[in-house]
Amino acid sequence: MKTHNPELVADNPEFSPEESTESPLTEQPSVYDVIIVGGGPSGLTAALYAARGGLSTLVLEGIMESITSLPGGQLMVTPEIENYPGFPGGSGEDLVSIIRGQALSFGADIRSEKVTMMDIDSPVKILTASEAPGYVDPVTYHGRSVILASGAVARRLGIPGEDEFFGQGVSSCATCDGAFFEGGKVAVVGGGDTAVEDALYLSKIAEEVTLIHRRDKLRAQGKDVSKLLACDNVNIIWDTVPEQVTNEDDKVSGLDMRHAKTGDPSHLPLDAVFVAIGHDPATELLATEKGSYVIEISGAGYVVANQNTSETSIPGLFVAGDVADEKYRQAITAAASGCRAAMDVAGFLG
Ligand code: NAP
Repeated sequence: MKTHNPELVADNPEFSPEESTESPLTEQPSVYDVIIVGGGPSGLTAALYAARGGLSTLVLEGIMESITSLPGGQLMVTPEIENYPGFPGGSGEDLVSIIRGQALSFGADIRSEKVTMMDIDSPVKILTASEAPGYVDPVTYHGRSVILASGAVARRLGIPGEDEFFGQGVSSCATCDGAFFEGGKVAVVGGGDTAVEDALYLSKIAEEVTLIHRRDKLRAQGKDVSKLLACDNVNIIWDTVPEQVTNEDDKVSGLDMRHAKTGDPSHLPLDAVFVAIGHDPATELLATEKGSYVIEISGAGYVVANQNTSETSIPGLFVAGDVADEKYRQAITAAASGCRAAMDVAGFLG
């Protein structure tokens, strides 16, 4: 039986996310009502709604694969969040812990395991997971439905200083982190619609914005391009690739760059660098051995759900969060889509 344990919820002054890391379910059902793949805001919100709605709920939240790839997703490397309603400030990790604690308090079973395979054609879905890197000792789970909330990973430049200062002057989310550099000098790297949108957003906050693009023509084609070109405090550096994020006194101090055609080096003093070179949605579990996908994937690589729902073309397979969100990619939109997916699952199970 699942119960709501108010001792675990976040608004209890005694609440400590660290104390609530263990799932309260002691017996594992042979078939879960829903298995959720991913433990970010979308997956955990789906778990909170599903478990509270009386569904036996398993979350396979993933494992720590590197210092920036953690159960909890992109929020785990976000040091400060100011724009999540009802959460007036704190780290992404704190926010994940609170939602996780809420999901646990309603009886969700949350396991730090990475799903390596999904067999989703039949009414009972079979997921194979492992709790260790290298995917040894696989375990199988059965579910009447699956919510894929596996997220997306912002692409990195792979240059020295980028990982070291990620979340502290290097960011892949202007909406999340731009406000920390009010009145400062910032750069956006990339030439796509996200880079243009980010540069425009930052132009209203920072004193000076420099867009750095590796070619002499933007990939972006949206209506924001002309706005950007007319913006007084935005400069564009063409044909240039960043080579190193420099630092002084433990803070980002600028970018060392190189001209893509002449090879000439240059340096740009900066307070922050926003990397906007695309995202890779985590759709690998939907790939077939032949390199195609079992459901529709958009040109940019995101899962395409049925219109206005989280359902997919496979009965019992639902999606939530950044893996299916090409446009918004915010913690709050991810959480909202998790809620929708859990409600769609409840309707599907009847
Ligand atoms: P994107 O279109 O793939 O653009 C990525 C940009 O980063 C490209 O300009 C690319 O350069 C550059 N880049 C890639 N790897 C790089 C590297 N290692 N070093 C330096 N530069 C690198 O990604 P996106 O801008 O995130 O957009 C993704 C999709 O969402 C697109 O379909 C876009 O239209 C859509 N989107 C739409 C809106 C909107 O309509 N409002 C807003 C945001 C995104 P190259 O150009 O040389 O390849």
